Amino acid sequence: MEYAPAETDFVVIGAGIAGLRAAIELASAGRVVVLAKREVKDSATQLAQGGIEAALSDEDEISLHLQDTLNAGDGLCNPEAARVLVEDAPERMEELIQWGTEFDPEGTKLTFGREGAHSRNRILHAHDDSTGREILRALLAKVKKLKHVSVYEFEFTTDLCVEDGEAHGVHLMNSSGETGHMAASSVLLASGGMGQLYRNTTNPPVATGDGVAMAFRAGAEISDMEFIEFHPTALYLKNVPRFLLSEALRGEGAYLRNLEMHRFMPKYHPMGDLAPRDVVARAILHELEVSRVKDPVVYLDLTHLKASHVKAHFPRIYSTCFQYNIDITTDLIPIRPAAHCSMGGVRTDLQGRTSVPALYAAGEAAATGVHGANRLASNSLLEGLVFGARAGRKMRDELRRAPAKARSKPRVAYSNGPVDAGLEELVREMQGLMWDEVGIVRDGVRLKRAIEHLEKLTPRVAHPKMRRSYEASNIHTAGLLVARSALAREESRGAHYRIDFPAHDDKKFLKHSIVKGGSIWFA
Ligand SMILES: Cc1cc2nc3c(=O)[nH]c(=O)nc-3n(C[C@H](O)[C@H](O)[C@H](O)COP(=O)(O)OP(=O)(O)OC[C@H]3O[C@@H](n4cnc5c(N)ncnc54)[C@H](O)[C@@H]3O)c2cc1C
Repeated sequence: MEYAPAETDFVVIGAGIAGLRAAIELASAGRVVVLAKREVKDSATQLAQGGIEAALSDEDEISLHLQDTLNAGDGLCNPEAARVLVEDAPERMEELIQWGTEFDPEGTKLTFGREGAHSRNRILHAHDDSTGREILRALLAKVKKLKHVSVYEFEFTTDLCVEDGEAHGVHLMNSSGETGHMAASSVLLASGGMGQLYRNTTNPPVATGDGVAMAFRAGAEISDMEFIEFHPTALYLKNVPRFLLSEALRGEGAYLRNLEMHRFMPKYHPMGDLAPRDVVARAILHELEVSRVKDPVVYLDLTHLKASHVKAHFPRIYSTCFQYNIDITTDLIPIRPAAHCSMGGVRTDLQGRTSVPALYAAGEAAATGVHGANRLASNSLLEGLVFGARAGRKMRDELRRAPAKARSKPRVAYSNGPVDAGLEELVREMQGLMWDEVGIVRDGVRLKRAIEHLEKLTPRVAHPKMRRSYEASNIHTAGLLVARSALAREESRGAHYRIDFPAHDDKKFLKHSIVKGGSIWFA
């Protein structure tokens, strides 16, 4: 097994779109170590189906992309961050194309698709519904050509090294449970999202909120944690991962039906099946609650669409469902909502700097305020690309020439101790709690109950020893951050819906929530 070195210039935690894009920027300035806690393909980037967007088509304008982003954010976008996102987007996308990303063409031009809340066709797809996989392939190919960048798989960052209030490297554990320390001049958190906080999620197993939890422990400011996007349509079958069924299916004309086969969306929203994601997710939840059957589902119905068209445009969705004996061209697809994307994370400025010196963050782990209270579909991959590059550039510019002290502490074989049989049960307990009490529809009573319950579990996650117990501890920390922020925001906005405060309260809450240690405030 090849170990990560004891010392480097830059550590990048995460090998998704944000981490790899940052590494490319850093390569000219020093040694770059990119860490992935499992295989590189275990990331949200790899799973992204729908697409990535930029105002590149003849009929589009950067100002329209900006307006759509601000509208989706429900008043809470950081306008500067949103402007940077849309202005940097065309150049970052041109680079991706130069580096070999094969976006789907139409003749000699690129094909631009559209999803809900976009005023123009501007979404690029690659290999139809495998956009993220293709981008990751191209970024990895580019990174492999760079002499100073090394990517290490199965290197789990257990914590950040912070001395005198500054980041100085990371603590690591490899797949054999051996621990070590890597000194670095600066550290980038590009560790992705936190869908695994919830019982139902479209996210990969790696998305346990490690970055946010580590940054919180290091004393960084964490922001906008209450804004979790729940995707309305994920495949729901027993013992099968909650595979995402892209919104583009409804864009192509798919219907939602309840157990009585009624098309229920028109009674919830004038746009029917094309209503905004949060509205559709709540409508489905309501249909599930009133169905009064055990383990209810609703269905996505594509059977009226042309089979050849469906197979041609959604090959990955078709083949994945087929693997579970569902032919989406002839069968109804059982679905439920699932936790999908986090808008919040480690608070950064527009260059990826956090409130802890030498600690940077980008991608889904970060909160620039770019998404506000709700993200515009297809802006997340772009966020990783744009802010990954910006963070990389800033780290390069701010490289401390007297690098971190290399404490070449040898790897220690850690005694994992007896396997904690209750660990998976504990994780399931926290995920169930988050789903039931801090989920799609919230209220103060349930949020307080969730916080009390999580606080009672603190002793059981307090001294992690194995990789999985570190993840359990991070789920616990990030879960508490979401619940506390959701309780503090006494209004409904974007993806955060409270039945006890169903309206906006612009006077008090047209601000971002910020948590640091035991304090929470809005600014
Ligand atoms: C099913 C699905 C479909 C999506 N579709 C779209 C879409 O069509 N368009 C769009 O814009 N967005 C989409 N998104 C969202 C988008 O994919 C993500 O927001 C984006 O890819 C996040 O990129 P990232 O680089 O921040 O993190 P990721 O791609 O998730 O990468 C995280 C990396 O961090 C590593 N890591 C995590 N913790 C540790 C640790 N403790 N130690 C070491 N390494 C660690 C992981 O191993 C991984 O390499 C989708 C998300 C999902 C789940």
